[in-house]
Amino acid sequence: MKLEKINQSSGIAVREEGLFVNGEMRAAVSGATFDDFNPTTGELYARVADAGVEDASMAIEAAQAATRTWQQLTGSERENVLWRAASALEEQSEEFVEVLIDEAGSTVSKARSEVSKSVDLVRAAAGDVRRVEGKTTPSAKCSFSIRQPVGVVVAITPWNVPLTLAAKKVALGLSTGNTLVLKPSPLAPVIAVMLGRVFDEAGLPPGALNVIPGPGKPLGDLFVAHPDVKAITFTGSTATGKYLAGGAAANLKRFGLELGGKNPAIVLRDADLERAAQAIVFSAFYHSGQNCMAASRVIVEGPCYEEMVERLGSRASNLKVGDPRSPETHLGPIINDEQLQRVHRLVTDSINAGARLVCGGTPDPPFYPATVVADVRPGMSLFEEETFGPVAAVIQAEDAADALQLANNSRYGLSAGIFTRDIQKGLKLAQQLEVGMVHINDSPTYTEPTVPFGGVKESGYGREGTGGWAWQEMTESKWITVLLEEKQFPF
Ligand code: ADP
Repeated sequence: MKLEKINQSSGIAVREEGLFVNGEMRAAVSGATFDDFNPTTGELYARVADAGVEDASMAIEAAQAATRTWQQLTGSERENVLWRAASALEEQSEEFVEVLIDEAGSTVSKARSEVSKSVDLVRAAAGDVRRVEGKTTPSAKCSFSIRQPVGVVVAITPWNVPLTLAAKKVALGLSTGNTLVLKPSPLAPVIAVMLGRVFDEAGLPPGALNVIPGPGKPLGDLFVAHPDVKAITFTGSTATGKYLAGGAAANLKRFGLELGGKNPAIVLRDADLERAAQAIVFSAFYHSGQNCMAASRVIVEGPCYEEMVERLGSRASNLKVGDPRSPETHLGPIINDEQLQRVHRLVTDSINAGARLVCGGTPDPPFYPATVVADVRPGMSLFEEETFGPVAAVIQAEDAADALQLANNSRYGLSAGIFTRDIQKGLKLAQQLEVGMVHINDSPTYTEPTVPFGGVKESGYGREGTGGWAWQEMTESKWITVLLEEKQFPF
């Protein structure tokens, strides 16, 4: 199941990208580069400057120096930069779509929706610039608090939705007056460097956004220890999140984590099964299941269990897998062979433990078909572990109370869907689910810029969103008082 990797000698044009530091494209200080492969073809797609600790230190220094320039602009000027960046991204959307297909294996429709969501996010954040509010406080004095930027924020992003997740962190950081160092995944570095250039074209002062593709660990260790890094916002795996959170805690850094999920979609006996199947199939197989909100545990009340299994199986079998460039394709490649093998192992382990394969389950590297596995129970790997692949595990529940218990029986708690015609019942379950986000009669894969995006338990902590949700992480509140009357001190 190895992907063939074709190098430059094959004559395929290879893109070259540098680091974006202090408003300039640069090579790494060491001169090192790393290879970025097209996950569909296995061909070398780009050769990218490989940031080391020295480069990261320069990026942090540039970001620190730019805090004054960025913060001294008026609110209107900063808002305009964000607005112009959104427009530039929109104008260049076709180029971004191309890179999302080639570099990240996105289907055409996922790539288009990712670009337009990113534009929307940056615009929503632009609207925040002049709304970062403080509070007046009841007091014997004139007393109030103001919110101030923390300074330099480090954003670490994954490969699956590499543009939107980077654009979100960058836009939320800039709209609250901070400057940033963005470290994208080595599996999707080009799109992040392009985002840096878009903000530069929009008039962002040099150094206010630096993009440094590079390896995780050495750079992460520098970020958590560096005195000028005031906050870290991370989206990625739970294992890396835990490692970084330890370092951040030891150094008292502000830290926000968006991690994995094992998201339940609960189907109650009174649900509209057709609509539920449609929403669940979308969520489970969007970007080949490589989305952190994917409905990977479908928990169905007994009376409609077999019918639901059948509906999911028949919809999943009709999904087209293959070349992400073809507009008819629903599922493109799995990001790499290691991940593909992991997905297949979770499926085969569960089948060996007694689960039933309904459809899919046969790898065709780099593709994995839409797979439905029924009769999954707690303890099976498809129940316990995040799949991050195109697999819907279907679980039978005795009743709504059992469905709730099964849903909460997870170390993760990101997103959930509840399908029912009884809204009261749905709302009650929503309150009891141990997750950060619940959608009644909709796919768990859903977000908007203005919402408190985030999870509980091992899905992380902190909330990302415009309209104040990210202020906890991205700003410091400062309490200020004015003495209005003469005061008697005890000595
Ligand atoms: P995934 O399996 O989705 O790639 P990771 O958590 O490994 O999840 O990666 C998410 C992001 O975290 C990537 O940008 C990766 O380079 C980065 N990363 C991985 N390990 C570390 C680390 N020790 N410190 C900082 N960043 C890291």
